[in-house]
Amino acid sequence: MSTEAVFKGWAGLDDKACQGNLKFQEFEPKKWDEDDVDVKILYCGICGSDASALSGEWGPVDNVCPQICGHEIVGEVTKVGTSPDNGIKVGQLVGIGAQSDSCRECDNCKDHKENFCPKQAITFNSPYGRGNGKGSISRGGFAKYWRGPSRFAIPLPDGLDPDIAAPLLCGGVTVFTPLERYGAGTKAKNVGVIGVGGLGHMAILLANGMGANVTAISRSDSKKEDAMKLGASNYIAMGDDLKKAFEPHARSLDLIICTSNPSELPVADYLPLLKPEGTFCLVGIVPKPLEISTFPLIMGTAAIAGSNIGNPDAISRMFKFVVEKNIKPWIQKWDMEEINKAMPSFQKGDPRYRFVLVNTDNGGKL
Ligand SMILES: [Zn+2]
Ligand SMILES: [Zn+2]
Repeated sequence: MSTEAVFKGWAGLDDKACQGNLKFQEFEPKKWDEDDVDVKILYCGICGSDASALSGEWGPVDNVCPQICGHEIVGEVTKVGTSPDNGIKVGQLVGIGAQSDSCRECDNCKDHKENFCPKQAITFNSPYGRGNGKGSISRGGFAKYWRGPSRFAIPLPDGLDPDIAAPLLCGGVTVFTPLERYGAGTKAKNVGVIGVGGLGHMAILLANGMGANVTAISRSDSKKEDAMKLGASNYIAMGDDLKKAFEPHARSLDLIICTSNPSELPVADYLPLLKPEGTFCLVGIVPKPLEISTFPLIMGTAAIAGSNIGNPDAISRMFKFVVEKNIKPWIQKWDMEEINKAMPSFQKGDPRYRFVLVNTDNGGKL
């Protein structure tokens, strides 16, 4: 049995949207394609990119109007077309992350590395590029229903709570992918995580689950207790003098995942933490270009890398992994009706460590 979806959501209409000015209204979903699904949204996490877009940091909000953001979506499939991917059926629980389409034809797509597809659609404010939906603007999860390609609606395995699955879909997979790529717990026994926030707390949980010794690196001691509970075995409070703070920990880490995104990042100061052949991997956008001289890179045979979300297969692997290891992100739930209070609170840095919005009328549980 299927329910007819009614597409209503909390729309950003101007640059004050994030300050408690999202408006609940109907919106146009993408035009239906036979590989699409309609999903009744139960939960949606709030990620930094939602706040950036709704604050006008990616260009005036009214450039794309209405903006229905939210890209850590979990819900129940209510409609499938004649050619669904992932074996999706009505009634199934699925998750949708930051990406909701790709071309299916380029080498990246054929290799199932859709997150590198040059013609991909992100889950909000982005034009779809294929089929009937070509030109339709993607609408995200701050809404009652979502419609999009089933390839990007990832089935939740048994044993995964749908509320804690939400933050894994963007924040989680963004750190899972480089931890997996660089061999956390195997090749990279000692992993540093810079920033204990939405992404950082999941990086600590996941790296610990992979068997790595985790060092949490944060500005002050204020998150030390939490970091240890999350599974870190060491903690560095940087203070204002990075060189002094890092000296006792020189050459102790195989991999550093940098989840913080200050306006500028003195990357050279962090490199002495790396063991030879170590990798410093950025997942947070730092607006100012990095400044680094080549000498320490060459002497340490160090790599500075970036990493971009994760593909649908990686999300599936991560889901299985967190069930197997009983890993649960720390979330605080808000009724989605309260989104105009949740967004300003998110902006103040209140989450410990991820806000998840709940559609109680769709069956989500607070
Ligand atoms: Zn492609
Ligand atoms: Zn995100």
